[in-house]
Amino acid sequence: MAVELNALRQGIDAVDKQILKLLAERLALVEKVGEVKSEHGLPIYVPEREAAMLASRRAEAEALGVPPQLIEDILRRTMRESYLSEKDSGFKCLNPDLRNIVVIGGKGKLGQLFCRMFKLSGYHVDILERDDWENSGHLLRTAGMVVVTVPIDLTESIIRRLNHLPKDCILCDLTSIKAVPMRAMLEVHSGPVVGFHPMFGPDTSSFAKQVILCSHGRDMHQYQWLLDQFSIWGVTLCDVDYDSHDDAMTLIQALRHFTSFTYGLHLSKENPNLDQLVELSSPIYRLELAMVGRLFAQNPNLYGDIILSSPKNVTMIRRFYECFGEALEILESGDKVEFVKSFESVRDWFGDYSEQFLRESQLLLKQANDAIQRK
Ligand code: NAD
Repeated sequence: MAVELNALRQGIDAVDKQILKLLAERLALVEKVGEVKSEHGLPIYVPEREAAMLASRRAEAEALGVPPQLIEDILRRTMRESYLSEKDSGFKCLNPDLRNIVVIGGKGKLGQLFCRMFKLSGYHVDILERDDWENSGHLLRTAGMVVVTVPIDLTESIIRRLNHLPKDCILCDLTSIKAVPMRAMLEVHSGPVVGFHPMFGPDTSSFAKQVILCSHGRDMHQYQWLLDQFSIWGVTLCDVDYDSHDDAMTLIQALRHFTSFTYGLHLSKENPNLDQLVELSSPIYRLELAMVGRLFAQNPNLYGDIILSSPKNVTMIRRFYECFGEALEILESGDKVEFVKSFESVRDWFGDYSEQFLRESQLLLKQANDAIQRK
């Protein structure tokens, strides 16, 4: 048996080596694609090309008796790598005549990321940090674009200092809230204004498929090139007015970060053996632990600022707390009939999404399980 198994394993190793060679070949081709795209200013991520390619490969896999999801998983993972290497060729500069870009807070986490992308696209970038204001006059008076990316609680006061920008200078920000910075930018500057909220963190290695929310302020025709530049980076832009943005972020950010924070706080008070929890976890609990735990690896000021940025957030959290209490009462009264009734009414509210979310989460859980290396 051992001999037979050995031979089969050698066969598998040989196939794996062929796969590896083919992957190297594929990556080399992708690098060339990156060069061509960079030269011609084509977007790094083309959803139609990706969808068509995956559909063809799935059909071909099925014909060969290979599960279509297997080739899709492999290709999606390979494409992620491709987006990374395509980035190395740099990007076409869509506005070579732009004067300098001044990034206020450019040494911060998100600032560094955007500085790198602007430089990879051939722009001249200057950074203005907290100790640089004394000599900032010339930089700001000659700027073609100013990007504000400072801690949330300082954003408004820093924007208020920008009242001497050239009329044609584009003023924009990357803040996680939008109403306060947008109003301040529109008041302080009479030229083009636009607000962005990148829906990703600074650890993002490629902008391909990432979403940036966009609140238009004024003179869009003057910053259309910037939106096009983001598209070349692979970004999907999603327009939203600044008040609607902040309302949505009450749920998407404030409540979510708060529930993670409270869950972590509660765990720390209960003080279970974390090693054991990890060991005994189901894949979904492992993911939950990861989602909660990762919060505490990040900057508490950023999350505190996001949650405290609007009284609406605290009101929402209060309503959640009341809802929590009502749900707890159902449990404490042992009323299973009421529990099932509530459960079903929530399911009705989710509608088709509950089935869709079940399918999506199954895929995620399988991927999470693949990534686990058991001792
Ligand atoms: P950060 O603390 O890493 O960076 C902030 C930078 O601003 C630092 O370099 C700091 O020195 C600089 N700064 C502070 N005071 C200044 C002053 N008076 N003048 C000039 N510069 C000053 O924060 P971050 O995580 O990069 O966040 C920056 C902005 O990006 C915030 O508005 C945040 O809402 C937004 N944002 C962050 C993320 C994220 O995941 N980090 C995601 C989306 C949006």
